[in-house]
Amino acid sequence: MTTKRRQAPGMSRRAFLGAGTAATLAAGTGINLGLTAETQAATIKTSAHVVVIGSGLAGLGLVNRLRKQLDGAKITLVDAKKVHHYQPGFTLVATGIWPKGKVSDTNAELIPPGVDWVQEMAKEFRPDSNEVVTESGKVLKYDYLIVATGLQLDFGQIEGMDINRIGSKGLASVYPGPELAEATWKAMDEFRRKGGKALMTLPATPIKCAGAPLKMTFMLHNRLEQAGMRDRASIDFHSAISSVFSVPVINQEVLNRWQQANIPVHFRSKLVAVDIDAQRATFEQEDGSHLVEDYDFIHIPPPMRAPDAVKNSPLAWQEGPFAGGGWLEVDPGTLQHRRYANVFGCGDINGTAKGKTAATVKKSVPIVVDNLISLIQGQSPKVIFDGYTSCPLLVREGAALLVEFDYKDNLTPSLPGIKPLQDSYFAWLLKYRLFKPSYMAVAKGRL
Ligand SMILES: Cc1cc2nc3c(=O)[nH]c(=O)nc-3n(C[C@H](O)[C@H](O)[C@H](O)COP(=O)(O)OP(=O)(O)OC[C@H]3O[C@@H](n4cnc5c(N)ncnc54)[C@H](O)[C@@H]3O)c2cc1C
Repeated sequence: MTTKRRQAPGMSRRAFLGAGTAATLAAGTGINLGLTAETQAATIKTSAHVVVIGSGLAGLGLVNRLRKQLDGAKITLVDAKKVHHYQPGFTLVATGIWPKGKVSDTNAELIPPGVDWVQEMAKEFRPDSNEVVTESGKVLKYDYLIVATGLQLDFGQIEGMDINRIGSKGLASVYPGPELAEATWKAMDEFRRKGGKALMTLPATPIKCAGAPLKMTFMLHNRLEQAGMRDRASIDFHSAISSVFSVPVINQEVLNRWQQANIPVHFRSKLVAVDIDAQRATFEQEDGSHLVEDYDFIHIPPPMRAPDAVKNSPLAWQEGPFAGGGWLEVDPGTLQHRRYANVFGCGDINGTAKGKTAATVKKSVPIVVDNLISLIQGQSPKVIFDGYTSCPLLVREGAALLVEFDYKDNLTPSLPGIKPLQDSYFAWLLKYRLFKPSYMAVAKGRL
C-alpha cells in the first residue's frame, strides 16, 4: 500500500514542514499533539471513592488524571474490555491507508497502578442509593460516579443487516471495529476494480464522528479516480435527515464538493432494510413510501444509542430529544448530571447537542476532573465546556479539511495557517500521523 503525496491547496507539505515546529503544533488549543509538558492541575487530599464506568478514551483519561489529582482517593474502573481501539484510525484502515494492527493497544498498559479495575460490565445503575451493580451481581458503592460508557451501535434497527458479512457482497461499515474496517476496505477495493453502483448512507440518530460517513464517501470517490474507474461507477448518498453534517457552513461545503464530484444526495431517505444476498437496500422516504435500490457497494453507519445499562437507568434523559436514545442527562456546560449531583458524564454517552469525538473527550476530561474536585471541596462546578469538537475530514488521499466547532456551530480553528474550509496536506498529516500520539497522551492523562 503506498501513500502518494499530492500537493494540496491550503498549507503545502513543504510550507508545513518548514513552519510546523512542535511548538507551533502544540499551540493549537483543541488538537495539540502531546508535545507539551503535562498539564499542571490541582491536587487535593481526599478519601472519596470514585467509580468510573467505561475504559475507552474518556475512562482512561479520567482515571489517569484522577490518580494524579486525588491524593488518597479510592478509584475503581469498571469495563470488561481488555483491548483498547484507536477508533479514529478505523477510517484509515477502511480506506486502505493503515494496516489494522495500528489501531489496537492493551488496556492494562494504559491503566495506572493504584486503580482497581473491575473487569466486567456494569449492568444496573442505582443512583438513589449510590450503587452500581456489575454483570456478576457485585454491588459497588460510590461517593462519586463518572459514566463513560461510550455508545452502542444499533445495527438491529436495519432489517436483514448482519455485520458478520461485512467485506463480501459489497457490504461495508467503518464503525464496528478493526477487523470489519479491514473487511470494508476489501469490499471497497473490489468495487473500485469492478465499478458499479455505490450507496452511501447516514442514519437519523446522533453518531460518533459524524464526519466518518462523509470521509468514506470522499475516499471512495478518490479511490475510484485513482483506479481510473470513476466514470464506470456511480455514488449516491442517502441521508436520513435533512443535512449531511450538523454545522451549516460545513454541510454546505461538503454538498458543494459532492456536486462537483457528481455525488447526488437524497435527503430524508432512511435505510431501513438490506437484502445482503440480493444486494438490495430499502430506504424509507419522508412521505412514508419505500425506495428500493440495487447496489454493488453499500456503506452502512448504523443508528446509535446509549448502552442498555444507561438507557434503562434513572440516569438517562427522561424527556426531550435525547430521551429516545437513552443518552446521559448531563448539563452541557459542567457535564454534571442534571438530577444526581454526584454523577458526571464524559465522552460519547453524554446527551448533549454536539461532540461525539475524541477531540471532545480531550477537552472535557480535565473539565470533569476540575468540576469533580470543586464538588469534593464543597463548591459548585465552575468550569464550563463550550462543546468543542473537531474532525479531520479526509477529502482525498493526501488532503483533508480540519473542521473544528463548538455547541453553537461557531468554527473554532485552533492552529495557525489553517483555514477550516480549505483542504490541506497538514490536516491530512494530522490525521495520518500526528493525531494518534495526541490521542494516547489524552488516554494517559497528559493532555
Ligand atoms: C470510524 C470512527 C472514526 C472516528 N474518527 C474520529 C476522528 O477523526 N476524530 C475524533 O476526534 N474522533 C473520532 N472518532 C470518535 C472517537 O473515537 C470517540 O468519540 C471516542 O473514542 C469516544 O470515547 P469514549 O470513551 O466516550 O467511548 P469509547 O472509546 O467507545 O469507550 C467506551 C467504553 O465503555 C465500555 N462500556 C460500555 N458499556 C459499558 C458498561 N455497561 N459497563 C462498563 N463499561 C462499558 C466499552 O466497553 C468501552 O470500552 C471516530 C470514531 C469512529 C468509530
